[in-house]
Amino acid sequence: MGWSIGNSERYKRDIGYGVPAYCDHPGCREEIDRGLGYKCEEEECGCEKFYCFAHRYDTDAHTHQQPTSGEHPDWMKWKLTDESWQVWRDENPDLVEAYRVQLKGMDLT
Ligand SMILES: [Zn+2]
Ligand SMILES: [Zn+2]
Repeated sequence: MGWSIGNSERYKRDIGYGVPAYCDHPGCREEIDRGLGYKCEEEECGCEKFYCFAHRYDTDAHTHQQPTSGEHPDWMKWKLTDESWQVWRDENPDLVEAYRVQLKGMDLT
């Protein structure tokens, strides 16, 4: 079900079940992925974010602002090192630099 990797225009980030992530609830570090299984599907909410089981149905707490969880380190490392992301790296030097700063100290080889 769902896409493996896509892109959320709204939040400018990668989505799909192939994307490891943290729950979008502020401060929650539950590890999920950005597949449909974790997406908020409450129509009245419409936040289009991704939450762990504990927060997914707590729609009163969902926000519609920019993502709060940040990217998962495993995901950033993947984008910085995998061959399939070479084009993305060439086109997004600013993001590459931002990821590198966030992953400071991590082995990126
Ligand atoms: Zn929601
Ligand atoms: Zn959560």
